[in-house]
Amino acid sequence: MIVVMKPGAAKKQIDHLIHLVREMGLKEHVIVGEERTVVAVIGDDRFKDRTVLGSVDGVDRVVPILAPYKMASREMKKERTAIPLGGKLHGTVGGTKVAVIAGPCSVESRSQVLEIAHAVKEAGAVGLRGGAFKPRTSPYAFQGLAEQGLEFLALAREETGLAVVTEVMSIDQVELVARYTDVFQVGARNMQNFNLLNAVGEQTKPVLLKRGMSATLEEFLLAAEYIMAKGNTNVILCERGIRTYEEYVRNTLALAAVPELHRVSHLPVVVDPSQGTGKSYLVDSMCRAAVAAGADGLIIEVHNDPEHAMTDGAQSITPQQFSEMMKTIRRIAVAVDRSI
Ligand code: PEP
Ligand code: MN
Repeated sequence: MIVVMKPGAAKKQIDHLIHLVREMGLKEHVIVGEERTVVAVIGDDRFKDRTVLGSVDGVDRVVPILAPYKMASREMKKERTAIPLGGKLHGTVGGTKVAVIAGPCSVESRSQVLEIAHAVKEAGAVGLRGGAFKPRTSPYAFQGLAEQGLEFLALAREETGLAVVTEVMSIDQVELVARYTDVFQVGARNMQNFNLLNAVGEQTKPVLLKRGMSATLEEFLLAAEYIMAKGNTNVILCERGIRTYEEYVRNTLALAAVPELHRVSHLPVVVDPSQGTGKSYLVDSMCRAAVAAGADGLIIEVHNDPEHAMTDGAQSITPQQFSEMMKTIRRIAVAVDRSI
């Protein structure tokens, strides 16, 4: 970091700052300018509390140079990380292929999940999504089928080879979900549930981490860092839209997050155009845009009867629409040197 002193800062103040820097186990390089003195702090300051130095007498501001996350950063690992999803189709997120994960918002019944799974597999998906534990805004809304839902997902994997991606909402669900899933989904509402991040960090299966609806990219990457710091380095970042003042869409899908996350991190990035828009008729365009922007994967809500879906019907596309969309994005993938 660079510490910029206020114009006319006294020598005593600069000396005190240097003392604090050394106390942190870091070194200083003092640059005396005409108007201001600047102190370059040398050493890995990522895990030090920079805010302390910002409020020291005579200090104007502190400018960080290194990202506060380490394992997730590009500085740490130059080459992109590719994460195998599991399942019999050998889908990978982060390689040259764009991995498509599709399925219902919620697992509703055995026949529903099986019908959708077969249809999305047929169209080229490698992963099956579906919530058995649902984080609902209202406590009176459908909360998911719990273990029975997980059993239906496992059955669908058995029949289709698709890798299962399903949400885990709390620490006490981790063991149960681990018995059925291939990939843990940590939802937007839990992105900063640090106890849950630690718990999935102790697991070996990959984690698809959704961006919180009001989280900055730095907070998002620090959440990924929690999981990685516990030993599970298989983190898939998922941009699912953020909450803005816009009311035409459920969330504002921040697609610039894809190249920006790729710039600062080696982790693969997946886009969720379903939560990202809230409207089924916008999903197709956002899938195209996400692939064009370099997304490593898509996670899409598909329902065989959206009008009667128990959750998120308005943003769910039909298997027919999904299959059409897949044809289009295959062409776009080729244009950006990828394949599906
Ligand atoms: C979902 O995938 O159905 C879901 C609840 O996602 P999010 O956590 O992004 O809202
Ligand atoms: Mn949903």
